[in-house]
Amino acid sequence: MSPAHTDPAGREPAPGAGVEILTPRDVPLGGPRAMTVRRTLPQRARTLIGAWCFIDHYGPDDVAESGGMDVAPHPHTGLQTVSWLFSGEIEHRDSLGSHAFVRPGELNLMTGGHGISHTEVSTPGTTTLHGVQLWVALPEEHRNTGRDFRHHVPGAVHLDGAVIRVFLGSLAGDTSPVPAFTPLLGAEIVLEPHATTTLGIDPAFEHGLLVDRGRIRLDGTPLRGSELGYTGTGNRTMTLVNETDAPARAVLVGGTPFEERIVMWWNFVGRSHEDIVEARREWEASSDRFGHVEGYPGDRIPAPALPNAALAPRGNPSPPKGSTP
Ligand code: MN
Repeated sequence: MSPAHTDPAGREPAPGAGVEILTPRDVPLGGPRAMTVRRTLPQRARTLIGAWCFIDHYGPDDVAESGGMDVAPHPHTGLQTVSWLFSGEIEHRDSLGSHAFVRPGELNLMTGGHGISHTEVSTPGTTTLHGVQLWVALPEEHRNTGRDFRHHVPGAVHLDGAVIRVFLGSLAGDTSPVPAFTPLLGAEIVLEPHATTTLGIDPAFEHGLLVDRGRIRLDGTPLRGSELGYTGTGNRTMTLVNETDAPARAVLVGGTPFEERIVMWWNFVGRSHEDIVEARREWEASSDRFGHVEGYPGDRIPAPALPNAALAPRGNPSPPKGSTP
């Protein structure tokens, strides 16, 4: 492994520069039934991986203790949400009129576009809730697209001690039929005990491997549970080693670097402070922009107060020096 380098733009690590470890922080989601999630994106060191702009990892939570998930109607704009579960079941309703059940191994992709609202409630039969909630930033030319909701059950691909489920993009010979607005990859990878698996990857993509369970060595760098290993562009392969006696599980995300600077605040992705102020104003005014969710027995979630300072657009800072082997 070479020492860390940055390209002339100061943004991307050089090919083969190694793996940057992004550690999670605990975030209480709030409300009367507060769930705590482990957030690895965004953070100071990194705003995006491809167009992936938000990674929340939760559970396994005993629903009898945590109360499960009960998220009242709330809006989104400028992004897509990806719900992927390892266990449990979530009932989804949105202002398109979608009514769906999110189950383990099944992609549920909601496109907020100009505006959508939705609810997420774990079902009464759920005893353990465990999964990830991911967001994808929409590029400028599509960020005001119409609302959409897609469901897809990827097949299982078996490769060198790994079972891979590709929910977006292409990996290990499988391609998701669900379209994306920028080149993207999203997949679940389960590794047998002590498996070593080498995956062919697109060198134009940067990648993030979120370890759910077990310890996985990613291109030589050990990652613990809930850590996100980031690799820059320029790599044609990625090697995962499960160093434990039990199966290990991870979620791999990737995409071409997202060059636009974004503003993320609450449930909104925009390009400017003014975009966020306007989205917030329209949610508070119950505007048609976000529509109405039918069938949820409760009130909408009010937007929090805006910060005093203007929200500044963010891109990706240079990777910290010395973080790579
Ligand atoms: Mn949401």
